[in-house]
Amino acid sequence: MQEQALYGAKMMQPGLTAADSEENTLRPQHLEDYIGQEKVKQNLKVYLEAARRRGEAMDHVLLYGPPGLGKTTLAGIIANEMGVQLRVTSGPAIEKPGDLAALLTNLQEGDVLFIDEIHRLSRQVEEVLYPALEDYALDIIIGKGPSAQSIRINLPRFTLVGATTLAGQLTGPLRDRFGVLLKLELYSPDELACIIRRSAGILDQPITPEGAYELAKRSRGTPRVANRFLKRVRDFATVLGDGVIDRDVCLMALRRMDVDELGLDELDRSLLRAVIELYGGGPVGLETLAAALGEEAVTLEDLCEPYLMQMGFLTRTPRGRCVTHLAYEHLGLRPPEACDAAGGQQSMF
Ligand code: ADP
Repeated sequence: MQEQALYGAKMMQPGLTAADSEENTLRPQHLEDYIGQEKVKQNLKVYLEAARRRGEAMDHVLLYGPPGLGKTTLAGIIANEMGVQLRVTSGPAIEKPGDLAALLTNLQEGDVLFIDEIHRLSRQVEEVLYPALEDYALDIIIGKGPSAQSIRINLPRFTLVGATTLAGQLTGPLRDRFGVLLKLELYSPDELACIIRRSAGILDQPITPEGAYELAKRSRGTPRVANRFLKRVRDFATVLGDGVIDRDVCLMALRRMDVDELGLDELDRSLLRAVIELYGGGPVGLETLAAALGEEAVTLEDLCEPYLMQMGFLTRTPRGRCVTHLAYEHLGLRPPEACDAAGGQQSMF
């Protein structure tokens, strides 16, 4: 039972894991194959077309939204649509200013440099990035003390695509250097069902529309979770079914993976239960909650909260997190009298 619960919880994490190494085969390559995010797509289409007509590199782009929503995919699409190369790295991988200098000097004219988790760049690295973004130049200091000299190296015109889970995590000066800010939203079940049917087609896996929709409803608004479910449910269909993913196979597989009918996993349910049982429904601070669950605050904030808030189970208030009466109902608990319809538990003080 415990083992199943852990399996379920791990399956739900939208962060990239080794099991997603096949992910590239499912990534859309062009804007027309990218499902959903209509507002982002419409605007991006204009910016890409404008840059192409002017024969320039596209302006720097900041993508923000929870993990697994398609930020890396969009960076690849921008590079493809502009007909240039994509270089992929991440904030924590660029440890020293020299690492960034090496990356930048290896770029070709027009290339797209994708920096995932850009909010995790160190201050010193960020400072090297500023002139690179503004003037396409690197200022390098040679030597130390009074004899130190600054030399400027010109860089090719390139497009930086930065990704972060929350735009507010970026320093002001860095955020201001992006010309295009695009916010990715969680996907609707209809959009996810489309993504699942497309992925099933690529994997040559028969799936019924009802099966796709059942998986979509439980994929917490996230394509990466949807694709991961598809692959695991495919295993159940192959071994325990007739090879076709239909609604019954989905229901059986998801039950075995401990994913409930709204897509909540063990960690989500433990979070809600902790707020209710340990803190009377809230408000409770994120750090306190994380300590009670033995999890990192960032895990709860990135992986659990966006979906729990979208589902109306959790609210964020200046004094902390509160659960709503919907959360009590979902867990089969009786909401206390003071728990109002829209917000969380009223304070006793
Ligand atoms: P992020 O960089 O935001 O963590 P990714 O770009 O790696 O997310 O996307 C995760 C997976 O979800 C990719 O393999 C891709 O196949 C799929 N995906 C994401 N967005 C879409 C979309 N709009 N349409 C189709 N598939 C998508």
